[in-house]
Amino acid sequence: MSPDSVPGSENLPFRILPRLVAGQNDFFWTSGSDGLLRLLRCKACGFVLHPPSPRCPMCLSKDLDQQPVSGTGRVYTWTVNHQPWIPGFDPPYVIALVELDDQVGLRLLSNIVGCDPDEVHIGMAVEVTFQRYEERGEVVWIPVFRPSSIDAARDRVGTLQGEHADAANRGFRDADTRALGVKVTPTRGEL
Ligand SMILES: [Zn+2]
Repeated sequence: MSPDSVPGSENLPFRILPRLVAGQNDFFWTSGSDGLLRLLRCKACGFVLHPPSPRCPMCLSKDLDQQPVSGTGRVYTWTVNHQPWIPGFDPPYVIALVELDDQVGLRLLSNIVGCDPDEVHIGMAVEVTFQRYEERGEVVWIPVFRPSSIDAARDRVGTLQGEHADAANRGFRDADTRALGVKVTPTRGEL
């Protein structure tokens, strides 16, 4: 199996790809084709469930729909794998449980990419991105997470020296999030 050669997909790691089951999990593994992460949402009570299940665990309704979610969240917990378990899937890499902003407790097991493993921390803001693989004519879009572009910019502001750094940081975040129409959870120390 080899990563597809579309621009931006070079040097993707080796992966054992999921088996797609039509009508069950295929929507999840192909959702990234348009850049959106989709999960099942209960049409009766609005609960978002993952992994896919035939019933809503909250109200037991079977009336579920595949709906786009924000794709943004926070690192709930993580570990760095240094063991070369699978030939070609070279360590180190970060395995993380990401809690999406959409709903408390809505978590995906994934990888953190686009930064040094030492930079990953609990509460780190991340956003989804997709890695496209193709095998035997079947295309799979693996959802992985990278540092949030907003949070990375905020961190740069936060490195400013001097007593005005915190105020500048807050101002930047507020202006930035207003412009993008997104919600940012207060950072540690502001709770
Ligand atoms: Zn429900």
